[in-house]
Amino acid sequence: MDSISESRLSQVHVLLASKIRTVATAMSAAGVECRVVQALRTKAEQDALYAQGRTTPGKIVTKAQGGHSMHNYGLAVDMVPGLRGVTPWEPNWDENDPDFAMMIDLCEKQNLIAGARWVHMPDADHFQLSGIPVSPTQDMLACLLAGGCEAVWTRFVPTAPAVAEGLNA
Ligand SMILES: [Zn+2]
Repeated sequence: MDSISESRLSQVHVLLASKIRTVATAMSAAGVECRVVQALRTKAEQDALYAQGRTTPGKIVTKAQGGHSMHNYGLAVDMVPGLRGVTPWEPNWDENDPDFAMMIDLCEKQNLIAGARWVHMPDADHFQLSGIPVSPTQDMLACLLAGGCEAVWTRFVPTAPAVAEGLNA
């Protein structure tokens, strides 16, 4: 992926990053370049975002307070396809566009949870790791506050069998 996406992916869980890269490679082969527009958002950044439209100026953009978004744990990314044939890269925000649907499809084939499928507050460009609670638990938040993202990853993210086998070999 482009350097902007890669620098963002360097801050999230390695399994999530590798799945996103796999999707981006397949999309690229189909003629569409994807970009990670948001990855890790610290708890402090989330708190500031939550304040927007409530105690600070602007529109309300999130329902999640700090610690309540998987972005705060490095376990979610927002990714959008680029517009075909447009240089420099421009995002394609049309979630009804076939390219957008293809990206969501590929992410689900990687066993990622797609925010686009959420009934209450769909989030078209949001993808997060499965195999862990869909929303952060109190235990995860306590772990984040005590030891940061890496502590959460170690304790809550199951190690893929293939990775474990590799380590044992
Ligand atoms: Zn998101």
